Amino acid sequence: MDDSSSYNDSNRAFVQAFLARGTLTYETSKPLLASIFTVHEGREILPNDITEADLRSYVSAANLALSPLDLEIRSTFHQSSRERVYALVNTSSDALTQMATTYSVEEMGFVKRVLDWMFDGPANTRRSEAMCISGTEAVNLAKVAGGVRRETQNGNTQGGGGSQGLSMRDAEGMMGRLVEEGWFEKSGKGFYSLTPRALMELRGWLVESYNDLEDESDDRGDRIKFCQACKEIVTVGQRCPKRECPCRLHDICTANFFRMQRNRNCPICKVEWDGKHFVGEKAITTSERYLQGRRRSGGSRRARQEVDEADENEEA
Ligand SMILES: [Zn+2]
Ligand SMILES: [Zn+2]
Repeated sequence: MDDSSSYNDSNRAFVQAFLARGTLTYETSKPLLASIFTVHEGREILPNDITEADLRSYVSAANLALSPLDLEIRSTFHQSSRERVYALVNTSSDALTQMATTYSVEEMGFVKRVLDWMFDGPANTRRSEAMCISGTEAVNLAKVAGGVRRETQNGNTQGGGGSQGLSMRDAEGMMGRLVEEGWFEKSGKGFYSLTPRALMELRGWLVESYNDLEDESDDRGDRIKFCQACKEIVTVGQRCPKRECPCRLHDICTANFFRMQRNRNCPICKVEWDGKHFVGEKAITTSERYLQGRRRSGGSRRARQEVDEADENEEA
């Protein structure tokens, strides 16, 4: 125990586990630290014996070791659950630069098209600030827009190599990989959005790419908006009812914020904050169009099940 203040095998094991996962929360760190402590102390330590202070001390020891490698474990909060998320961040280059070392040029092009869709495309308009993408929409971005046209001129609409993009199957696979590797998370309703880790690592890149655009014809303003309370990016939360007002708040930040303000008016435009204008997938899932579509696709899902009799018999 006397060597616990210096960097030891336990610290090394923790760093290795972190490198392998990329992201940890207090909950997911418990079994990990418990097994490390068990080896270190030669007696069984249970996950519930692990305190948040244990995690913090291992994180700070890890950061001393990681800093020469331009790596740092930073923490942020999950926008919805408010759970603290620890993530390994490269301090010398942005996430897209790092991803380019493991993904192909075509795959990176696809990632960029997905991000454009989320933040500068149909998923982020004045009317609907969803900042997420459905699996179907993502697969439809497999090919480079305009690439199809070039192919047609060559009389070959099937060729998928070179700079034409990905096959639909590969695009689907990429979305799965991006979830597995901690960049995207997939909601119960099937929408993909950026994880806290991705937001932390891509913050600078997102702002640089989608804000302060010098396009006079475009009055939409900054695509990436920050919470008026905590100053972090909002991709899930609430927006001011006034469409042109840039004020955004995380759901979890509203209660404290309005308590301190002693009224429920937008701090920027002073309009009453109704909490019914959403940022994130709720901007889609609460829309009349989506609800109508669901009622229709509910019908087609039933039709598909009827074709697959075996499944239906199992369900019955
Ligand atoms: Zn906030
Ligand atoms: Zn406002």
